[in-house]
Amino acid sequence: MSTPYWVAGRPATGTEVLEVRSPHDGALAGATTTATDEDVEAAVAAADRVRAELAATPAHVRAAALDSVSRRLAERSEEVAALITAESGKPLKWARLEVARAVSTFRWGAEEARRWSGSLQRLDTDPAASGRLALVRRVPRGPVLGIAPFNFPLNLVAHKVAPAIAVGAPIVLKPAPATPLTALLLGELLAETDLPAGAWSVLPVPNEVAASLVQDPRLPVVSFTGSVPVGWSIRESAPRKHVTLELGGNAAAVVAPDQDDAALDWAASRIATFAMYQAGQSCISVQRVFAHRAVAEALTTRVVEAVGKLVTGDPTDDATDVGPLIDETAARRVESWVDEAVAAGARVLTGGSRDGASYAPTVLTDVPAGAKVSREEVFGPVVVLDTVDSVDEAFARVNDSRFGLQAGVFTRDLQVAFRAAQVLEVGGVVVGDVPSFRADQMPYGGVKDSGTGREGVHAAMEDLTEERVLVLTGI
Ligand code: NAD
Repeated sequence: MSTPYWVAGRPATGTEVLEVRSPHDGALAGATTTATDEDVEAAVAAADRVRAELAATPAHVRAAALDSVSRRLAERSEEVAALITAESGKPLKWARLEVARAVSTFRWGAEEARRWSGSLQRLDTDPAASGRLALVRRVPRGPVLGIAPFNFPLNLVAHKVAPAIAVGAPIVLKPAPATPLTALLLGELLAETDLPAGAWSVLPVPNEVAASLVQDPRLPVVSFTGSVPVGWSIRESAPRKHVTLELGGNAAAVVAPDQDDAALDWAASRIATFAMYQAGQSCISVQRVFAHRAVAEALTTRVVEAVGKLVTGDPTDDATDVGPLIDETAARRVESWVDEAVAAGARVLTGGSRDGASYAPTVLTDVPAGAKVSREEVFGPVVVLDTVDSVDEAFARVNDSRFGLQAGVFTRDLQVAFRAAQVLEVGGVVVGDVPSFRADQMPYGGVKDSGTGREGVHAAMEDLTEERVLVLTGI
């Protein structure tokens, strides 16, 4: 049976069937249909029509809708996690974590919707403005086109939908072609709320249709999460729109010389886990590690040992840590990049082999400068270990990248922590942990090629809105 897509809050079915299969074993995860041109037009027209009504909907209605989605997600969490695993190959334990995060992303949206307010600004500091007062509110820029990637089929969709509803902006969501089913299931939960028709749509459409939606003036805001080339091409193709880009990276961790044995155990276990989790398919997966010479050998031994203990295989098995990549093409690309590095002199400390869509968790060292595994975004279960002679050298190496999402710094030295926050060219520095740490309410996003704008529920709400001033005279 084909899962319906959602047009202005109502289920709909097209004629072109889109089967979704597990990258692990090709098992059918489900099917949907591509949204028809008429339905795409109906969704956009409805978003345009409802924009004023939704912006004026009382905060308690929008907050209640987001609370309801959060609660229903929690109630159906096992089913949702199983669907994420079935369509993306993400190990069940990580799928469960993703659902738990989305539950809190929607809850944060509800809480922020209740808090979302404005400010008063006195104007009488200027003699010409005596007797006047400004009331400053943030109002939606307009309906949002949300475009999502495959690697977090639920929580990155939540990061588009929750802030939009929280500020009262309609959203037309386009899920990733490999993983539309989770977003469509989320539609069931949105359909249970009292949001006005047109407030939201979920449309599985081909990239050409998504590209034409980017051009549609009725969707003045584009919130895109995905790859670097697609993201920047969208921004260039829509210069008059407000475009937020959450793109890729080659995130780094720095290990300072102050780390004792216990701290190195922690650092190594975090690096191993978060270089390999989701088979490295996270934009802030640990890809590069710069360890000070004083601790590099001890760290390397521990990382290799920890990676060796990771359980690979069937993502539906509770014990599995690392499953397949999204498809065999992705795994072949990772294989060719590792092979290229090895041909140029890199050493494989563990891993380095492929089986269908799965690539073994791989630790590399002696990787020559310029190899793709260091310079580009691997988006696979590969980590490159490097030795440096000072923390400043490590920071310079972190910055020697065209990307800048987050960086992790393992140190107990406050001076090093503050310097990291000052000099690292990234959207966020995580002290005492890997760059892969993200709490869903904190501002999150990148610099350089990694994007522009910030998500994290409150930050996204600011991004989706602009200030509108009401000047009161005679006060
Ligand atoms: P992708 O760029 O291939 O696709 C992302 C989305 O864009 C999909 O829905 C796709 O169908 C759509 N798309 C593709 N071409 C389009 C076009 N011309 N016009 C409009 N839409 C188009 O990315 P992906 O492979 O799904 O995701 C992996 C990438 O996402 C990685 O680079 C990863 O780092 C990045 N990512 C970033 C973040 C972040 O928050 N910074 C989070 C997760 C993933």
